[in-house]
Amino acid sequence: MPGDIGPRADMPRQDPRARARNFNEVALGYTPDMALEEARRCIQCKKPVCISGCPVEIDIKSFIGHIQEGDFLAAIKKIKETNSLPAVCGRVCPQEDQCELKCILGKKYGPVAIGRLERFVADWERANQLVSVDKPAHKKSKRVAVVGSGPAGLSAASELAKRGYGVTIFEALHRAGGVLVYGIPEFRLPKAIVQAEIDYIQGLGVELRTSVVIGKTCLLDELRKNYDAVFLGTGAGLPRFMGIKGENLNGIYSANEYLTRSNLMKAYLFPEWDTPIKIGRRVGVVGGGNVAMDAARTALRLGAEEVYLIYRRSREEMPARQEEIENAKEEGIQFKLLTNPVGCLGENRNLRAIRCIKMELGEPDESGRRRPVPVVGSEFDLEVDIFVVAIGQGPNPLVPRTTRGLETTKNGNIVVDQETLMTSLEGVFAGGDIVTGAATVILAMGAGRTAARSIDEYLSSP
Ligand SMILES: Cc1cc2nc3c(=O)[nH]c(=O)nc-3n(C[C@H](O)[C@H](O)[C@H](O)COP(=O)(O)OP(=O)(O)OC[C@H]3O[C@@H](n4cnc5c(N)ncnc54)[C@H](O)[C@@H]3O)c2cc1C
Ligand code: SF4
Repeated sequence: MPGDIGPRADMPRQDPRARARNFNEVALGYTPDMALEEARRCIQCKKPVCISGCPVEIDIKSFIGHIQEGDFLAAIKKIKETNSLPAVCGRVCPQEDQCELKCILGKKYGPVAIGRLERFVADWERANQLVSVDKPAHKKSKRVAVVGSGPAGLSAASELAKRGYGVTIFEALHRAGGVLVYGIPEFRLPKAIVQAEIDYIQGLGVELRTSVVIGKTCLLDELRKNYDAVFLGTGAGLPRFMGIKGENLNGIYSANEYLTRSNLMKAYLFPEWDTPIKIGRRVGVVGGGNVAMDAARTALRLGAEEVYLIYRRSREEMPARQEEIENAKEEGIQFKLLTNPVGCLGENRNLRAIRCIKMELGEPDESGRRRPVPVVGSEFDLEVDIFVVAIGQGPNPLVPRTTRGLETTKNGNIVVDQETLMTSLEGVFAGGDIVTGAATVILAMGAGRTAARSIDEYLSSP
């Protein structure tokens, strides 16, 4: 291995004090020189193990090789062979647990910044107006319905369109994108970028029908009659609450509602946009994942003076991306670790405080993480006027509830054949969070790709 490999090229970010009060994107992206510098760290391994860490198998070695040659257009085209949402993935994928975790340079020098390079070429292509769509030459007569326009649905739709099928996406909300538009905030994933990637997928010939709720506007059985196959990518958007006393007081939101109001309905631009959101002086958010980080950082940007992130384990066990934990800390979110809410206290039906208890870590539980145990007699009250519950989401229940014969687990996730992703119903496939439970963008995209391959085989068989 060459001895002159330098450290990873840093990516410029907005100053923490400024960004904590605006909704503009935090990370500013590489310049062409930075991208070249970072790409040159890649030693173009004979056996590029990085690829095995990518759920959609991007040819990472080749795309970085193109950047090394200064051919950014060839680099983005290489990525798009297997990934239709590169500007999204370059921003929100947990590369540190996937491709970058596998990179051969990791231990000694720090892995190549694969995600930042992916983001760079995707942004470069858009900024230079070089996005071109290669429509499939041969159109097939068979048609596929895709339910849900999150990463799973978008990826399935684009793969099927590339294979020549007529594809229609049905989306319950008035905008396509799933969590990418209603969950992940503007300061992490600008909505114009999501829209540009959706435009690209529509450019492939995919028809998009928004404000259509399958299970209400029309049943899955009707779709089955009108289409040759169906893909279900309905996600996990059902809020979970803690089940503690006082949780119905005014000022308590599920993270889902809080983020949807702010992101999708643009409550942060109220009154120009007409959805309001209660602005808290002191805000508590419970949870330790990406959703909790996003809710806490949104509260700060909406104008809260103090924001507390309450998590029952220690920082090491937090499931959120390390980068986002760092960003939240830099912006001034106060971490109340080894702490758990046990009740909500109110005055005139409005939230006044959260009663919390201190926790300590015991033996590992079934997740392998040490189990948090309450410390007897350690209760204390944390004064807040807003409380956001971000402890996970359940599968969206409408389609299974309104479809006879669609098998689900006891948690409500749709059961599929692990290889083909076909459900218990002939010709109906499913993937993403609705199958796995809340997971990641790239896993949902990987499932969409796998399902598209299976649907193609299913529809091609005599
Ligand atoms: C706040 C937040 C932050 C996150 N941050 C990250 C991150 O940084 N990195 C990462 O990798 N992952 C992150 N995730 C997780 C990631 O976004 C999800 O795993 C991913 O979006 C799942 O994709 P999906 O397509 O399965 O479902 P979704 O994105 O949930 O999309 C499902 C779509 O189906 C629609 N739908 C549901 N029911 C119906 C119906 N009956 N009829 C029609 N349409 C329907 C929904 O409206 C929705 O648009 C985050 C999640 C949240 C909530
Ligand atoms: S493992 Fe790392 S160094 Fe090797 S090809 Fe992949 S990105 Fe480049």
